[in-house]
Amino acid sequence: MVRAEGVRKHFGHLEVLKGIDLTVQRGQVCCLLGPSGSGKSTFLRCINHLEKVDGGKLTVDGDLVGYRQHRNKLHELREREVAERRRDIGMVFQRFNLFPHMTALENITEAPVKVIGRSRAQASEEGHRLLEQVGLGDRAGHYPAQLSGGQQQRVAIARALAMKPKLMLFDEPTSALDPELVGDVLDVMRRLAADGMTMIVVTHEIGFAREVADTAVFIDEGVVVEAGDPRKILVDPEQERTRTFLSKVL
Ligand code: ATP
Ligand code: MG
Repeated sequence: MVRAEGVRKHFGHLEVLKGIDLTVQRGQVCCLLGPSGSGKSTFLRCINHLEKVDGGKLTVDGDLVGYRQHRNKLHELREREVAERRRDIGMVFQRFNLFPHMTALENITEAPVKVIGRSRAQASEEGHRLLEQVGLGDRAGHYPAQLSGGQQQRVAIARALAMKPKLMLFDEPTSALDPELVGDVLDVMRRLAADGMTMIVVTHEIGFAREVADTAVFIDEGVVVEAGDPRKILVDPEQERTRTFLSKVL
């Protein structure tokens, strides 16, 4: 579903991604771990067309990110084409950026109605079902300010799912939450994984990664230091850098 080969990205003189290699198969969960500033968010943003890749090859579902091929030549995607590709990718950020002036249900139905022309009735029915799915069936009419951080984050997940994405990206979805609210969000993600969603999750929740991920990838200074079975890498890593990192987050 996602394949990165030597993916590079720099901001001015700063090389943030120095050749990332990574493969995530359909239906698999990949957890990205690594110190602050190592390039995890930048990599996710590249997958979601929020940043442009400078070098290497990045594909989502076989399509080269940022380009389309026509008669053996590559053409940069137009804005409209980028928007179409991005529809297939759901993203959940650390800060739940719900629309504050809309209820939980309205947050979820906004894009399906406005972007893909679903009827209000259909989007609303689907929205209620998604709220049930994230354990918030009774909160449809609540505004973000009336919800806890964990509840807001679950609405954000439901909102991403409303576009029926084929890939979900999570960027530290629980790190802004009070500890007692983390579990509910991770439970929703765990169920999503069990239902077969393809997911890339930046997280420092080692327990979650060990239990749910098919692959763990440790990134440091823009390179993949170590990747593989989370039950190996997060328990008994080969690399000293991985070991040092784990001793800090555990
Ligand atoms: P954290 O764990 O703190 O979220 P991260 O691994 O997600 O870190 P990134 O956010 O990808 O790290 O940032 C990697 C580096 O790129 C950092 O040094 C950051 O300052 C830099 N960076 C990110 N975005 C930009 C930008 N738009 N312009 C300039 N530098 C940037
Ligand atoms: Mg980040």
